[in-house]
Amino acid sequence: MNRLPALIVALAVSPTLFAQPAAPASDAKPDAKPPAVAPAGGEPAKPAAGATAYEIKVDTSDAPELKAYGEKIQKLSEEWYPKLIAMLPSENYAAPQRVVITFRNDYKGVAMAQGNRITCAVKWFKERPEDLGAVVHELAHVVQGYRRGKRPGWLVEGIADYLRFFHYEPANARPRPNPERAKHTDSYRTTGHFLNWVQETYDKQFVVKMNAACREARYSDDLWKEYTGKTLDELGAEWKASLAKK
Ligand SMILES: [Zn+2]
Repeated sequence: MNRLPALIVALAVSPTLFAQPAAPASDAKPDAKPPAVAPAGGEPAKPAAGATAYEIKVDTSDAPELKAYGEKIQKLSEEWYPKLIAMLPSENYAAPQRVVITFRNDYKGVAMAQGNRITCAVKWFKERPEDLGAVVHELAHVVQGYRRGKRPGWLVEGIADYLRFFHYEPANARPRPNPERAKHTDSYRTTGHFLNWVQETYDKQFVVKMNAACREARYSDDLWKEYTGKTLDELGAEWKASLAKK
């Protein structure tokens, strides 16, 4: 179902859109689809030397009671947006200089990112103010900046949740996939756990390389073998076996 607020569709700067499901612990598919609008341009410029590197704007005008919370989100974003950018480097890529985070009453999901714009649901963050990691996940999508080419949605979400759970969240909040049921393609935190395992086991630059491939429209299933010597299915089976050992 497409629940995008009309304003967000109108302001879309990219056809690429990422949304989180209402229950982030589940692996449900995002409930928002990319809007059928053409990119409106506005490619971010590199900051001039000496200028503030990144600008974060948080708009809580739809819910003035969230003003203080919005300031907290702004501080968090000013700290973590540059960190996330540093975690996903690739040649000739500059992440958007400006990010706009808007809290909306009429957005029914959790949060979503579209180009350099993030929408957060007022209701969700009023009920779950501790869910700051959801904003970090969306900031990761802004940094990913995938616009062209094809790549699996579970990988896109997995990279965002890898950054969230293995860099931002405390260790005791890390995902613990069920050894019986988990699949490496389950998306979100389960794929995040899988990506961390691949990285720790095979290649410390794995996520950086895979992100660069997605960003540059070079993704192919063959890359798993190129980077690790194992196919995706072989890696998934090994990872699953490693879960059962714990
Ligand atoms: Zn996402």
